[in-house]
Amino acid sequence: DPAKGTKMDASIVAKSFRNEIKAKVVAMKQAGIEPPLLVGLLANKDPAARKYAEWTGKACRADGLRYELRTLDDPIEVEAALIDANDDPRVHGIIVYYPIFGQEESFSGESQDDYLRDTISHKCDVEGLCHSYRTNLYRNVRFLDYPTNNQKCLLPCTALSVVKIIESCPGCYDFTKPVGRKLEGKTVTVINRSEIVGRPLAAMLANDGADVYSVDINSIYMFRDGRLHACDDSVTPESCVRKSSIVVTGVPTKNYKLPTEWVKPNTTVINVASFKNVEEEELLQIPGVVYVSQVGKVTVAMLERNLMRLYEQFHARNNK
Ligand code: NAD
Repeated sequence: DPAKGTKMDASIVAKSFRNEIKAKVVAMKQAGIEPPLLVGLLANKDPAARKYAEWTGKACRADGLRYELRTLDDPIEVEAALIDANDDPRVHGIIVYYPIFGQEESFSGESQDDYLRDTISHKCDVEGLCHSYRTNLYRNVRFLDYPTNNQKCLLPCTALSVVKIIESCPGCYDFTKPVGRKLEGKTVTVINRSEIVGRPLAAMLANDGADVYSVDINSIYMFRDGRLHACDDSVTPESCVRKSSIVVTGVPTKNYKLPTEWVKPNTTVINVASFKNVEEEELLQIPGVVYVSQVGKVTVAMLERNLMRLYEQFHARNNK
């Protein structure tokens, strides 16, 4: 019904990427090569982290990838386990299930979890969150070995999963335009500016040509032309959403709901948060709206894709 919105199931997007991985694994096995190994490090009792670890293991095994979960009793053991895995030529990817220390600070003032993120070698960083990948993303540098351009930078999986979903939604990406301009003329609002989800996502969409409002609880910035710009006081979450044809919500609280009356017809709305940030029934009354309520399956597919990329770029000829 064109007078209403539609809900899109992102598992279709996940499936096509996972089929590509499966085909590569089959080809490796036929050539007598062992498929890539992902090591997960878990050192907390957080049920969400445990669930995520279970899902990753299950998805990897289903697609023929090898997965090994290493459970540690004390967070203090994670750094040594991480370094062991970095240095082990049999390991091709590492994922740490956060929070390990939560917001606890290290001696340098950054959080200890941030320090761990930067300790993962870029050759094993399936999440794409270590400093070298983040800094390249924020400077719109797409290759590690610029200007030779043989080694692509890895991208943060959650943000990448949202980009892949947006690519699959009609009317968002213009594939006739060159790289860097496929979202030209589009305005996007991303509600969340964490280093894990919102900031990398806003940067990626801006690197594809969009004007991106990055909304957090106390501030709004515009990402445009590879740069962050301050917004004046007239810019509010409402004015941003009203201008946007793509809205991404990532607010980690039960009570937050995106006011549906701000959303214009034909907008693509994606909820990344584990909470429902959107009143679904109300939203789907708006003509032409496309709504994606969950991205987790695509995130796991992007983890697998990143693992395969790490393997091909850094490990395939034992060149770790
Ligand atoms: P986080 O707690 O690190 O960051 C949340 C950000 O949202 C913070 O910057 C916070 O200030 C901001 N925020 C809070 N209330 C806000 C409001 N009312 N308006 C605007 N901004 C607000 O969390 P995170 O790691 O960014 O994760 C966000 C959500 O996404 C969580 O619910 C998490 O479970 C989910 N998540 C999903 C996936 C997936 O693949 N599905 C992956 C990672 C995170």
